[in-house]
Amino acid sequence: MNNRINIALAGNPNAGKTTLFNRLTGARQHVGNYPGVTVEKKTGICQHNQAQLVVTDLPGTYSLTAYSVEELVARDFLVNEKPDVVIDIVDASNLERNLYLTCQFMELGIPVIIALNMIDVAHSRGVEVDHEKLERLMRAPVVPIIARTGKGVEQLLDTVLQCRADSTREWHPLNMSYGEDLDRILEDIVPVIEENNLLTDTYPARWTGLKILENDDQILDRAMHADKSIAHGLLTKSEQVTRHLLSTVEAYPEAIIADHRYGYIKSILRQGVLAQRFDADRLYTSDKIDKIVTNRFMGPIIMALVLLGLYSFTFTYSTVPVGWLESFFGFLGNSVDNLLPEGPVKSMIISGVIDGAGGVLGFVPIIMFMFFGIAILEDSGYLARVAFMMDRIFRFFGLHGSSVMPFIVSGGIAGGCAVPGVMATRTLRSPKERMATLLTVPFMNCGAKLPVLALLIGAFFSEHQARYMFLATVVSWTVALLAAKFLRMTVLRGEATPFVMELPPYRFPTFRGLLIHTWERTWQYIKKAGTVILGISILLWAMMTYPGLPEEKVQGFEQQKNKIVGSYTEQVVLELQGDNPKLSEEAQKLKNKLLKIDNLMAESALQNSMAGRIGIALESVSRFAGFDWRTNIALVGGFAAKEVIVSTLGTAYSLGSVDPEDSSSLKDRLALDSNWNPIVALSVLAFIMFYAPCFVTVVCIAKESGSWKWAFFSMAFNTVFAFLLAILIYQVGMILVFGA
Ligand code: GDP
Ligand code: MG
Repeated sequence: MNNRINIALAGNPNAGKTTLFNRLTGARQHVGNYPGVTVEKKTGICQHNQAQLVVTDLPGTYSLTAYSVEELVARDFLVNEKPDVVIDIVDASNLERNLYLTCQFMELGIPVIIALNMIDVAHSRGVEVDHEKLERLMRAPVVPIIARTGKGVEQLLDTVLQCRADSTREWHPLNMSYGEDLDRILEDIVPVIEENNLLTDTYPARWTGLKILENDDQILDRAMHADKSIAHGLLTKSEQVTRHLLSTVEAYPEAIIADHRYGYIKSILRQGVLAQRFDADRLYTSDKIDKIVTNRFMGPIIMALVLLGLYSFTFTYSTVPVGWLESFFGFLGNSVDNLLPEGPVKSMIISGVIDGAGGVLGFVPIIMFMFFGIAILEDSGYLARVAFMMDRIFRFFGLHGSSVMPFIVSGGIAGGCAVPGVMATRTLRSPKERMATLLTVPFMNCGAKLPVLALLIGAFFSEHQARYMFLATVVSWTVALLAAKFLRMTVLRGEATPFVMELPPYRFPTFRGLLIHTWERTWQYIKKAGTVILGISILLWAMMTYPGLPEEKVQGFEQQKNKIVGSYTEQVVLELQGDNPKLSEEAQKLKNKLLKIDNLMAESALQNSMAGRIGIALESVSRFAGFDWRTNIALVGGFAAKEVIVSTLGTAYSLGSVDPEDSSSLKDRLALDSNWNPIVALSVLAFIMFYAPCFVTVVCIAKESGSWKWAFFSMAFNTVFAFLLAILIYQVGMILVFGA
């Protein structure tokens, strides 16, 4: 028996061919080039038992088409040299892709032994390959090895010798189906190839037929050389079927053939070859879901629905607990009101501590629901798809696909909150893209801005309310994206990071995981509300309260009140002091008059407070945008929290009702006030939408960016931008409307 065996090592690049080759041949190697091309040819000798093995390391390829020199070299070697055995090195951690080449060896009908390499890598990734099952299904010997350590190499060589000795073993080209159209034409042309012996001394007839259908230049050339007229006839048929496929399924035969090879491999792998520490089915299902979910047309629609769903889920289900918290803080305020004597301590506890921190803690349910919803999207893998779809648009503005969620959370659909939005930027890995996102999310219309928008739109544009609300959303997105672009072109200039995101397979989130994610984020928010915000809110209260009215002014108001009371009969005064809810006409008149004085007093106290003085001082600048001093106070107060704007406007415009819930009278008052008109309203609206983020957001920006520098930048940048915009609107608007 001839004990010299020719072996070819074939496989994908990086599957471990060279490693195995070196292990087998040691120092006994010969390195040259394949004839005619500069592709390295390495040959070596290996002794095993009595046999001498001549091993050739083929160039690494993924396929056996004629597209690259390596592929041509590999397949020419196989068909011309006809090695006794081909050892196909397959990377077990990347089985599907590697078996694609194996599949083509089988089509070629050469004797293949599969060396299942890198089983250590596969194992560490949770993949266990059932090599016995693979052997049965592929109908070729499979030997698991670790080329790097040499594990399994002896068995591999034993298998080589066995194959050689086993003379009864016959090698047949694998006859797989390529779909009806191609199967039919193969049945038609293979007999023609066989009868005319077209290239049959080199290739199996079916393989030649397949290559003609794949429009393989080399084979077509050789066929033309061998028998021009037959080759022409085959080519015509191939062109016919190509046209047919293009018009029916819009694909070339080679694409369909490739699809069927992959389908063949998939069906093998799905029969339990990949052991279930790793769920192949899940990957497969994910692919199917993604076909719909990231589809060019369906994708955005589904995304919009999901985001809308998240938004309405959050705001629908959080109203109840928000109500509980509101009544709790209301109850707390009332209790303090009843327990403590009148004075600055009581005022501070109610207006500073309870209203301030309570206002912030009141958001906790919204934040919890929002984070719960986001946790579902994130843990299930859907968020990655959203980022994937939005990336192209966002990239244009210097942002990233992962910027979408922070924008939505901050109020991109209206009514979010920039605080969780800023926190949500953590998913961005590039610092500059993250900063750009962080700085522009406060431009969204958060839930606290909505009452202000509703108030001003209601007062001045009540006829087109919905349209203006929609416009506000569009404008906020436009401004945010343009601002991002601007930042990325100036202070945050830098490369866009490529969006290489492997879409993870979908999985069912666990309830425990969701709760943990939700709580972690909510707790961070609560901690902040308890510390920084409490301090700030006390400070604001003090600024709007001190130094208060000088004594003689207070007395002046008291005198006015006494004078009015004096002009009414004792009966009316007594009626007012009692708690009869239904007052007589006279008593009601008196009450209104007294209320008016109280409001005047409150207004002048406010004017005299630090905040009031600031408001008046700011008038010298703010008048360019049409804001009067009272608006200024509200805007300064709004820095603490945007919802303060409505209540502060209420106080500042000294209305009977300073209840932020009841803005109807404020609305009418503003509509009638001589300082206000639709142009002023637009200018104020623009300013409120874009000026400095509220204090909590600023603190978050400082924390998330790791420096107060960016927090101050955000305050200054946004305020300057918003103010310039407001001036523009006011000045242009006044000229257009009033021609002045
Ligand atoms: P080739 O492109 O097919 O020649 O692949 P190489 O032999 O150059 O191997 C590619 C890389 O995989 C090298 O870093 C090897 O050290 C590594 N490698 C090869 N076989 C194994 C193995 O069984 N286990 C592990 N962990 N690494 C391997
Ligand atoms: Mg190599």
